[in-house]
Amino acid sequence: MNAARAIAADVRTGTRRATDVLEEFLGRIEAHDGDVHAFNAVTAERARATAAAIDAAVDEGRNPGPLAGVPVAFKDNLCTRGVATTCSSRMLEGWQPPYDATVVQTMTAAGAVMIGKTNLDEFAMGSSTEHSAFGPTRNPYDLARVPGGSSGGSAAAVAAGFAPLALGSDTGGSIRQPASLCGIVGIKPTYGRVSRFGLVAFASSFDQIGPFATDVADAALALGVISGHDPADSTSIPAAVPDFEAALERSVEGLRVGVVSELTGSGRNDAAVGGGALGDAAGEVLDGIDADVTERVFEAADALADAGATVGRVSVPAVTYGLTAYYLIALAEASSNLARYDGTRYGLRVEGADVEEMNRMTRRAGFGDEVKARIMLGTFALSAGYYDAYYGKAQRVRMLTRRDFDAAYADFDVLLSPTSPCVAFRFGERADPMTMYRCDTCTIPSNLSGDPAMSVPFGTGAEDLPVGVQVMAPALGEETMLAVAAALERAAPPLPKPQLVEGAAT
Ligand code: GLN
Repeated sequence: MNAARAIAADVRTGTRRATDVLEEFLGRIEAHDGDVHAFNAVTAERARATAAAIDAAVDEGRNPGPLAGVPVAFKDNLCTRGVATTCSSRMLEGWQPPYDATVVQTMTAAGAVMIGKTNLDEFAMGSSTEHSAFGPTRNPYDLARVPGGSSGGSAAAVAAGFAPLALGSDTGGSIRQPASLCGIVGIKPTYGRVSRFGLVAFASSFDQIGPFATDVADAALALGVISGHDPADSTSIPAAVPDFEAALERSVEGLRVGVVSELTGSGRNDAAVGGGALGDAAGEVLDGIDADVTERVFEAADALADAGATVGRVSVPAVTYGLTAYYLIALAEASSNLARYDGTRYGLRVEGADVEEMNRMTRRAGFGDEVKARIMLGTFALSAGYYDAYYGKAQRVRMLTRRDFDAAYADFDVLLSPTSPCVAFRFGERADPMTMYRCDTCTIPSNLSGDPAMSVPFGTGAEDLPVGVQVMAPALGEETMLAVAAALERAAPPLPKPQLVEGAAT
């Protein structure tokens, strides 16, 4: 049994050694990461030392913590002291952070063993992990397809059995969408629930760190470890951390579940949902959301109704503007955040005749095309004369989104939608940026509002590939969100195993 909970329990009682657990996972990485490319770096030596220290603690009768001996993969935009942190960009070549991100510290203090740093779209900008300077990550379900992004390496690592847990970052969907495409669980916590200290900034008002796991209980365990106030992050919320694992036992009976009309449309299953009680979708319905995906959402709603929840349709009109608002605000923030890569402070430097030329040459050589395009668009949106028309307007849409969610949560405890509008797609299939950006239609609204949201696998769609259902909740409503996710997990049809896991040694 290779769930994180089981490993930690076994290591604590001395039934299994952390060093043996680690070797098992390292063996699987060795055998299959050549195909998947989930990792930018496997930190085997450091992991062996950590695991040995955990075994020594157990031998001395000490408790190494809730993640005792659990191998964890960290997205390569999380700072790890003395270990290269690349953001999958040439720009950070050779840079080793002088400190650990808070989440790296809390995971390590809980007994976790860092096994490696995972691949991502450069600076977390993308939805497929095709935009990494080090080459793409492949989906363990089908190596010809993307794992999603930008945390594709973390999602693929967990799906392929390279680590029971991984952390990623979610600015517009980068945890939930790859979790969905790789058939695993991914959580974006409430903005401020988890410290961002040591997360390389993309769009600071959206960025949030969260866990990937093979099941809801493991995700809840990891979330509990990384949550909590951190004085080093000024946006961190000083709220007590609930017992997330206890929330999994809660019944969904009487809970009010709203299926978001704009994100599901009038699928052919409409009449069947909730015994026909759902009615038709009101308001504008976004196109480009595949029917195989929405059908699973309706089935998930049915399953919750069977478990005693009250299911209905809800309109959240502002979600139709989410993508446009996000791609203005996120790019504006990115243009400011990425100004720090100037050839003097971090990583790469390309020499020039003077400082200005050095800056220019460094940025030209260090950033990939997608990052450059975003910096230019973000700078444009903030420039004098355009600020009000673009950035200002986008901020007003953000406020509208907040209000529309508040209205929906007056009538419903949680909301359901697809996580991704489609199952895992083939490399190159969404090469045009607008098509790629549409991957985030369903996930972006929760980044605009700052509310928690997660993806839970619920059956398969086209080509028997995994589909994820998104559960959204109001700010700090993770317990209810997790209770609903656990109920969905219990009702979900079993997923086929990724080919790679079937072929693996254990
Ligand atoms: N795909 C989105 C983007 O490209 C979201 C990325 C993320 O969440 N880091 O901006």
